[in-house]
Amino acid sequence: MSQWITVLGATGSIGSSTLDVIRRHPTRYRVYALTGFSRIKELVDAALEFCPRYLVVPTEAAAKQTRDLLNQTGMGLAACEVLVGEPALSKVSSDADVDMVMAAIVGAAGLVPTLAAAEAGKRVLLANKEALVMAGPLFMRAIRDNNAELLPIDSEHNAIFQSLPENYTDDFEKHGIEKILLTASGGPFRNRTKDELSKVTPAQAVAHPNWSMGAKISVDSATLMNKGLELIEACFLFNCRADQVQVVVHPQSVIHSMVQYNDGSVIAELGQPDMRTPIAYGMAWPERIDAGVKHLDLFEISRLDFTEPDHETFPCLNLAKDAFERGGIAPAVLNAANEIAVAAFLAEQIGFLAIPELITRVMAMSPDKTVQSLEDVLAADQWAREQANHLLVEFEQIQQIAGQE
Ligand code: NDP
Ligand code: MG
Repeated sequence: MSQWITVLGATGSIGSSTLDVIRRHPTRYRVYALTGFSRIKELVDAALEFCPRYLVVPTEAAAKQTRDLLNQTGMGLAACEVLVGEPALSKVSSDADVDMVMAAIVGAAGLVPTLAAAEAGKRVLLANKEALVMAGPLFMRAIRDNNAELLPIDSEHNAIFQSLPENYTDDFEKHGIEKILLTASGGPFRNRTKDELSKVTPAQAVAHPNWSMGAKISVDSATLMNKGLELIEACFLFNCRADQVQVVVHPQSVIHSMVQYNDGSVIAELGQPDMRTPIAYGMAWPERIDAGVKHLDLFEISRLDFTEPDHETFPCLNLAKDAFERGGIAPAVLNAANEIAVAAFLAEQIGFLAIPELITRVMAMSPDKTVQSLEDVLAADQWAREQANHLLVEFEQIQQIAGQE
């Protein structure tokens, strides 16, 4: 019998890799819903190929455009209903017929529907790490309380999941685990100096040496905030402390992460830098299916390198670690400040080095508050965005003055 999957963020990089895995297994998986945001034409093209029951778009105007495009192709509305807005994202994540949900919306926008999938007891394929960073304890509780399944799609966490004991029960000591070795490519600016970083452009930042990804995560990878978010993600997913996760810069991105045990063993997962591997693993677990990924040729790779991260030049990693250790709303504040800073960098409003500076300033202003509910998380997110936007105005004024001098 086919399994029904909803792909949140179907028009993005992870979304299209997911559709490629589905394409290879048309009887095993059927598409329940696809969601998009700005790339309506791509969404409609995917609908024509995968015939979902629902499409979800952000506005009535986008829905009209979607319906017009569907009508032009002769597919008609009967086969595919177009829904609008966040409630619809949550509906297609939690409907009774849905077996699994690929959470691949970028940023905080993915939190509510991803949580809805967890609360409805679905298999959650988690690419949207920001959702977990923002609301880790709430999210993990929702998974547990509703017997949902959480399969990490982020390549590092997928590798850790594969390297942990099969019966892993959220307890490092019990399983003789010493630490997680979280690998990082180092991004496009590895080995650059601060002075060099002050001049880098958005185009340079999104040109990742190993992985092809959306713009936001590519910038996160360049600042090392991606590794910071992943450190928090690992602590929530596997129930460990930040000092039990060691970041290892490994420029080839062949080892996707490792687990170190107290008998001296280190277990790793290796593979191509191709997200279809963790996606297919999450979809088929505990079975394995063809993902269309080229086999790893160790002779072609020939060597693997490892170094420590440069915390001085790339402060985002420690900002994230501090936020996790502060707990409560701090990771949500960090995430929101980062989203605003990255968007401003991509829009050429601020320079690359202003990203950690802006986050540091917002974190310094943030009160310490515990999280009891989703509303607490959303309020912290909103507060941090407002503070970051105020600071952006200040940063721009400073840049203008510097430009006039
Ligand atoms: P993309 O930017 O390529 O895709 C993002 C998706 O989210 C698109 O479908 C986009 O729609 C949709 N979207 C954007 N904003 C909104 C919004 N406000 N409301 C609803 N939908 C929205 O990102 P990636 O695929 O690269 O990343 C997706 C997630 O997966 C991120 O959280 C990222 O950190 C994580 N991830 C990605 C990896 C990768 O290799 N790409 C690796 C590991 C994790 P549209 O395009 O139509 O505007
Ligand atoms: Mg990753």
